[in-house]
Amino acid sequence: MSKQSLDTICIQGGWEPKNGEPRQLPIYQSTTFKYTSSEQMGRLFDLEESGYFYTRLANPTNDAVASKICQLEGGVGAMLTSSGQAATFYAVLNICQAGDHVISSSTIYGGSTNLFTVTFPKMGVECTLVNPDADEEELAKAFRPNTKAVFAESIANPALTVLDFEKFARLAHGHGVPLIVDNTFATPINCRPFEWGADIVTHSTTKYMDGHAATVGGCIVDSGNFDWEAQHDKFKGLTEPDESYHGIVYTQKFGKLAYIQKATAQLMRDLGSIQSPQNAFLINIGLETLHLRVPRHCESAFKVASYLQSREDVAWVKYPGLPGDTYYELAQKYMPKGTCGVISFGLKGGRQAASVFMDKLKLCSIETHVADSRTAVLHPASHTHRQLTDEQLVEAGVDPSMVRFSVGLESAGDIIEDIRQALED
Ligand SMILES: *Cc1c(COP(=O)(O)O)cnc(C)c1O
Repeated sequence: MSKQSLDTICIQGGWEPKNGEPRQLPIYQSTTFKYTSSEQMGRLFDLEESGYFYTRLANPTNDAVASKICQLEGGVGAMLTSSGQAATFYAVLNICQAGDHVISSSTIYGGSTNLFTVTFPKMGVECTLVNPDADEEELAKAFRPNTKAVFAESIANPALTVLDFEKFARLAHGHGVPLIVDNTFATPINCRPFEWGADIVTHSTTKYMDGHAATVGGCIVDSGNFDWEAQHDKFKGLTEPDESYHGIVYTQKFGKLAYIQKATAQLMRDLGSIQSPQNAFLINIGLETLHLRVPRHCESAFKVASYLQSREDVAWVKYPGLPGDTYYELAQKYMPKGTCGVISFGLKGGRQAASVFMDKLKLCSIETHVADSRTAVLHPASHTHRQLTDEQLVEAGVDPSMVRFSVGLESAGDIIEDIRQALED
């Protein structure tokens, strides 16, 4: 774990220029890197030596940003991906293949639900969705001999359930598999999943990390804590020779970095969902203010949630930072500094009232986005989650009347006034 505070890592982490080098992270806009020895290039291809040779495998701009996120999460290695979806996909695929099984919390991002319940099964990886609030005995029933990972979100988008990290880590580790946590909503500013037993963290950097709705991106961070060798037969992809690299064994060659090295050397090589260095540069600019923006998002979200709660025409409000919320206690334990800027609520008038309300907003806009500087509003049942059946909606924690409200960085007073006029005028 880095000794520096998160604030300092946000600003200076990852890029450490030497004397006379650019102060700001340069964009290495190059597909390739020049060498003078054919022998050395060969060693790079064999992973015998580390160095840059092709941007699909590694790029200095991307590495600097991955390193910053890695330090923020307190991990040992990280990799950027082209999107949050690619991060989730690779994080699971890195340790799963046809015939395997994964367990995921049912309250996850709609795109991840599709990945787990539609696309992975087509590839021969089965998934069981579980209610994250079920007790341990119940959850243990979901494990099978071929289960390879447990997946959940620290704060679920859009259900706003808060993960009981310790319960999930105990269950995963008790069954010899890692816990993968999507930490997009909480961000490492508010919660560091590795401190609570998670083994791998994923991010959609598209959200708070970028923070300005400028770039789609993702990241996988490895804690280095999971003992793959202790589960040798479960994770042969890491513990037995990789024929595509002349028989190297990732756990032997890379130790604590085995998982993240395999993800880069094998998955990125073969599937290629890389982050563009231009986008990585933009994410880095966003990260420079993450520690300032996240607390403000939380502070304003609390004000907006409290306002909504005080209104007669609002049926319910969900915000884990609000005393009395179902997840308030878990949030206090795992993310005492704050949760996120996203709120959900339902109007007494239900689905119909939700669309009327949304259409009357002036400052806040209807967008398929959350977690950026501008306040955005969405109706999950008719937008992000429209592929789901009513039953799946309930499982995913999405009430058909739910309005997802992402509180931005405008004045909280102006946001509240916009809500007021949309409900009253
Ligand atoms: C948006 C989101 C994703 C998907 O990320 P993209 O960058 O849009 O691919 C995954 N998980 C969560 C929690 C998200 O909010």
